[in-house]
Amino acid sequence: MKKGVLLAGALLGTMILLALALGRLNHLMETAMEPAAVRQTRPLVLDAGHGGEDGGAVSLTGTPESQINLAIVLKLRDVLGLYGVDPILLREEDISLHDSSAETLREKKRSDLKNRVAAVEGVEGGTLLSIHQNTYPSGKYHGAHVFYAPTEHSRELAEHVQSSIKAALQQDNERAVKQIPDTVYIMNHVTCPAILIECGFLTNPEEEALLRDDSYQRQLAAVIAAAWLTAGETAS
Ligand SMILES: [Zn+2]
Repeated sequence: MKKGVLLAGALLGTMILLALALGRLNHLMETAMEPAAVRQTRPLVLDAGHGGEDGGAVSLTGTPESQINLAIVLKLRDVLGLYGVDPILLREEDISLHDSSAETLREKKRSDLKNRVAAVEGVEGGTLLSIHQNTYPSGKYHGAHVFYAPTEHSRELAEHVQSSIKAALQQDNERAVKQIPDTVYIMNHVTCPAILIECGFLTNPEEEALLRDDSYQRQLAAVIAAAWLTAGETAS
């Protein structure tokens, strides 16, 4: 009973956040908003970066990036579910997606990346959203940064998500979207629209604390969900 009430409270909180985010994004749209989920019917693939033995970057307080990526992706799925969007998740647990034949860490990483690409490529008409966290040698940088794959419609989607985050969550974020470096395997091997969201910096003390915080993760998820729900014109 108590758990149910808590869950309902969290859900209501998320819905309010999403409504706020959608409201703030509304003025970005040229046309009046119709229920977004009606228009947004393209399959969405969510990639929580890293996982298992590959923890990715490590935060200032020792939290692996892979855990934060997954926490945000799971919340993103919950928020999107409220709008009837059922995304495909490449991983739902703290695991690597390598073949069982892979032995060394290097082989496992390689196999994991190939399997993620194959999973994305298997979704017809899909769009990939890959969630990661950023780092920098010093603590001076903070704020989300969106990167796009060198595929059709990716840049427009990245710009929409970046400006949505600015409008709804980080008014001081002046970052411009960038093409993903060619060293990032998945983003350079998928053929569908794909963006990678570096949600924030694990090396900035204030932002690191936020990125580990449940309610901030929900805010991020709500803003990204709102951006996806309003991306119909730019990426379809
Ligand atoms: Zn990463």
